[in-house]
Amino acid sequence: MRTLLSTLIAALPAAALAPSQLLAQEPREWPIHSMERPQPPVVRAAPARAGAPPSDAIVLFDGRSLAAWRSADDTTRPARWRIADGFMEVVKGTGAIETRRAFGDVQLHIEWASPATPHGEGQERGNSGVFLMGRYEVQVLDSYRNRTYPDGQAAALYGQRPPLVNASRPPGEWQTYDIVFRRPRFDAAGKLLQPARVTVLHNGVELTGPSAHQARPPYEKHADRLPISLQDHGVAVRFRNVWVRELE
Ligand code: MG
Repeated sequence: MRTLLSTLIAALPAAALAPSQLLAQEPREWPIHSMERPQPPVVRAAPARAGAPPSDAIVLFDGRSLAAWRSADDTTRPARWRIADGFMEVVKGTGAIETRRAFGDVQLHIEWASPATPHGEGQERGNSGVFLMGRYEVQVLDSYRNRTYPDGQAAALYGQRPPLVNASRPPGEWQTYDIVFRRPRFDAAGKLLQPARVTVLHNGVELTGPSAHQARPPYEKHADRLPISLQDHGVAVRFRNVWVRELE
């Protein structure tokens, strides 16, 4: 059986992320079949339930506690979203939440469900978002029979790139994102050396194609590690089983 990681590697466009980058090897050239090349660390792949965290994951939400999160608007305050039955749910008006810990290059797993009874149309329906480094949004939206601008539908890189296909499940059903993200690189003067890159699997379907994240809006130099945040767009979207693996 293929592990999630091997599935991710198989699904990744070669130009986006070489497996050696995922395995955190030293960035140097090795002779073919070198036994000196560092052995990839061993982790236990999840045995049963797809999407369960492997042993080297940092669990950000296990269904019981928001301890890994805080208010994004006022980082001195705890996250004020609701917890019930193994999920957290946006409480309208309490604002976005963000991880207490900061991250750069990551593999992120997150499950979400928009309200079972949809309200509104387009961007009003089931809107939330997963913001890598607090600024690069993978859109969360009820895109099941709900037209909107393509670069704003579920799993779009908001305002930048539509998903290749619409893999949305009906409202109320749990959906998964498996995201591999490489942060942008800047030089000391703040000049962009390499744009951010992201590959999204939505419900196991790879969406983002081989191209790099477009630079729109223009990049501004930022820290190498920043919190991951989740959007309060005024809709009671639910999240569960959130974990991350650092790739740097
Ligand atoms: Mg959003």
